[in-house]
Amino acid sequence: MSTGLYGAYGGRYVPETLIPALEELEAGWRALGEDFHQELAELQRTYIGRPTPIYETVRFAPEGKRILLKREDLCHTGAHKINNAVGQALLAQRLGKRRIVAETGAGQHGVATATVCARFGVECVVYMGSEDMRRQAPNVERMKLLGAEVQPVEFGTRTLKEATSEAIRDWISNVETTYYLIGSVVGPHPYPELVRELQSVIGREAREQSLELGRLPDAVVACVGGGSNAIGIFAGFLDDTDVRLVGVEAEGAASLGSGRPGVLHGARSSLLADEDGQIADAHSISAGLDYPGVGPEHAHLRDTGRASYVTATDDEALAAFHRLAETEGIIPALESSHALARALDLDAELVLVCLSGRGDKDLAEVLAH
Ligand SMILES: *Cc1c(COP(=O)(O)O)cnc(C)c1O
Repeated sequence: MSTGLYGAYGGRYVPETLIPALEELEAGWRALGEDFHQELAELQRTYIGRPTPIYETVRFAPEGKRILLKREDLCHTGAHKINNAVGQALLAQRLGKRRIVAETGAGQHGVATATVCARFGVECVVYMGSEDMRRQAPNVERMKLLGAEVQPVEFGTRTLKEATSEAIRDWISNVETTYYLIGSVVGPHPYPELVRELQSVIGREAREQSLELGRLPDAVVACVGGGSNAIGIFAGFLDDTDVRLVGVEAEGAASLGSGRPGVLHGARSSLLADEDGQIADAHSISAGLDYPGVGPEHAHLRDTGRASYVTATDDEALAAFHRLAETEGIIPALESSHALARALDLDAELVLVCLSGRGDKDLAEVLAH
């Protein structure tokens, strides 16, 4: 078994009772054979809609610059999250688990999880902060339509951080029957590695498609919440040292830009915390970036300098949101709009942006501003 360390980050900071479950998960994951990968590839093609295209913007990019979009917004359910959910649901099947629990913030991961549970015919329980349930009511209805049970979480800030704690608590109590389907490259080992592997299909396709278009991009830009779409696309270009990797955090949730080392939800990473190590509240207009932690591999990529991390404000993201809608006829997710905002002013000629999701879910939020 590997240690799951990325430099000084990662690992397993969990109660003793969870270690056997994490070991079972890791052993199951490593034992997967060719049949799993074939079934996954088939579902990626026929259910998710992969490969997603790369589209070159015609009016969005400023003079003298080319901006390409990796269209994860065209995936089934409207974002990259389904890549991970499908893979983990398949793994849960192989492990013989008939019940899946998940946490959700904006509801996007909850919808992706409820979707695959319907597809595989397994019980689905999604933990969601009651404040998020109020803000993201349409996604609550979607999950219920898909047959999932949505469990309100009523403590703390009533958002993603508490929902994650509750999902982990459920898993600890029901570990024999239950699979915990985590939504990003966070949590105890092996989750960051598992989710990275499932999302790296984005980067593999994008690298191949870039070469077909003529050459590798000068920079790859992605928004960073927990960090899964960013790691997914970065993974394809990590060895191409001429390609700059740029992660964009929400200014009010910059776990890498203004974070400090600490432990949250089972792993050591860079966190938004005060001087006593108390986790601070994140703030972003986009619920999907509103998380005080980040995947451990990003903290390591930051420290080694292989990737750089910058921020975008709510207003910058909103401006990029409107610009993409008006110049290309594509309504991006507010999360992805952070990446678009920095792509516009990045000093690079050919920029590839991970368009992690579509913005239909954000219309109410955008109109309210
Ligand atoms: C959830 C979400 C994100 C943030 O999650 P990561 O794990 O950082 O990718 C980004 N974009 C969209 C569209 C999302 O739904």
